[in-house]
Amino acid sequence: MRNRDSAPSVRPSLPPWWLEEALEAEAPPPEAPRLEGDAEADVAIVGGGYTGLWTALALKERDPSVRVAVLEAEICGWGPSGRNGGFLNGYWTHLHRLREVVSDEDALAVARSASRAIASVRTFCEERNEDVWLREGGYLKVSAAPAQDAAVERSVHAARELGVEEEAVPLTAEEVAEHCRSPRFRSGVFFRDGATVQPARLARALRRAALVSGVALHERTRVAALRGGAPNVLETPSGKLRADEVVVATNAAATGWPPLARRLTNFGSYVVLTEPVPDLLVEIGWTGGEAITDGRMFIHYFRTTPDGRVLMGSGSGPIGHGGRVDTRFIGDTATGARAELGLRRLLPALGDVRVTHSWGGPIDVSVDHFPFFGTLPGTRVHYGVGYSGHGVGPSWLGGQILASLALGRDDEWAASPLVRMPQAALPPEPLKWLGGGAIRAAILACEEAEEVADRPPVAARAVAAVPRLLRMPLGTR
Ligand SMILES: Cc1cc2nc3c(=O)[nH]c(=O)nc-3n(C[C@H](O)[C@H](O)[C@H](O)COP(=O)(O)OP(=O)(O)OC[C@H]3O[C@@H](n4cnc5c(N)ncnc54)[C@H](O)[C@@H]3O)c2cc1C
Repeated sequence: MRNRDSAPSVRPSLPPWWLEEALEAEAPPPEAPRLEGDAEADVAIVGGGYTGLWTALALKERDPSVRVAVLEAEICGWGPSGRNGGFLNGYWTHLHRLREVVSDEDALAVARSASRAIASVRTFCEERNEDVWLREGGYLKVSAAPAQDAAVERSVHAARELGVEEEAVPLTAEEVAEHCRSPRFRSGVFFRDGATVQPARLARALRRAALVSGVALHERTRVAALRGGAPNVLETPSGKLRADEVVVATNAAATGWPPLARRLTNFGSYVVLTEPVPDLLVEIGWTGGEAITDGRMFIHYFRTTPDGRVLMGSGSGPIGHGGRVDTRFIGDTATGARAELGLRRLLPALGDVRVTHSWGGPIDVSVDHFPFFGTLPGTRVHYGVGYSGHGVGPSWLGGQILASLALGRDDEWAASPLVRMPQAALPPEPLKWLGGGAIRAAILACEEAEEVADRPPVAARAVAAVPRLLRMPLGTR
């Protein structure tokens, strides 16, 4: 077994295994043409990840005559939508946090609407004969250290208080073992609203569906400037697109966009993927396809694949600076090592399995860890960002909301609490980076000490408590 300071077996690098697998399944994968010259659309969407593509599809479903264009800087699926952990779930897992920022009624409304994501992905795939490796095995949050017991209890308590106890079922250590056996797991909570997908296959399937529905897709087309007006003008190195409505769906890149820069910061999330070990999964009883996380703030998230690989992720990557999406989000070996350490520690039965791949990506973290959607005042420029590392399911909801905003509809989606939620501002740079970095390091030190039953250093505990003292949920545990 590797120790805490060891280097990862595999250095994080791109492309992620998911995207390679998905592109191979499509062979040969044709790229959509770059935007050349002048063009027009009714709605221009910047970003061809899940948010942009679900929005495009929702627009076309509601009004096939709307001219929709998607401008994607790379290829669809290159961003986090093609390299995430593939946990597909809504907000029952976050009910206690939701209650900290909105009324109970709104918390239930958000959780109920987001819980439609799994069925929507299922229907989307069935209707188009797409295979995104959807596995509806539920979501299990486990406590893997005494300090994590409270995270499990909070989830159970919130569901009970709101009369939806069936959405968060408490499990003893023995009951957790029926899903996945590990000497580390002390207790758990099971959410039936949980599934896994092959994330890049989902992104590519959405891309195919968008093309079939008549969306004008331009890949390798980075928007360099957005000039607001009627119409808005999107400038790219090789062309200009005029559009009455613009939807900004650029995820972590939006942190560098002045209108949202004070409401977002970026953190890195990294994963390791093992060789196929189906026999070991049988041995530890992890054959139900459950998506599992531990109870840390910088969570470990782990799931299996149909051929018996295990993906283990760590949301403890570096904080970004000035909204730049740079190499700290793709090549941070320390976070790759933490993900691997998590694998060996949380699942000791897999102590000797070979890690074959590792990669990372940025996550767009909002102050309260929930995505927010809206329209820039006095414009027809809409945005949807802030998933905070949990956007696979919520981006489906985001697509419905953004389509309603772009169509000017006054419906259940436009009225979502995620459009109305109050948003605190983060400090400007470099304070955001310095403060966020210090708090991140302190929380990481506390959580690593707690994991091995050490008492966290006093200084780390003091700094880790700052966000809660400031009533800022960013980085609170
Ligand atoms: C390692 C990792 C693991 C994760 N695991 C999970 C998980 O298991 N479950 C979960 O729910 N969430 C997870 N997430 C988060 C999830 O991947 C994201 O929330 C989700 O993919 C967001 O989708 P999106 O379309 O908003 O963003 P993206 O997928 O980032 O798409 C945005 C697109 O915009 C493009 N773009 C950016 N700037 C421009 C520009 N100027 N012009 C044109 N295009 C531009 C980018 O190239 C990109 O393709 C994880 C993230 C990471 C990094």
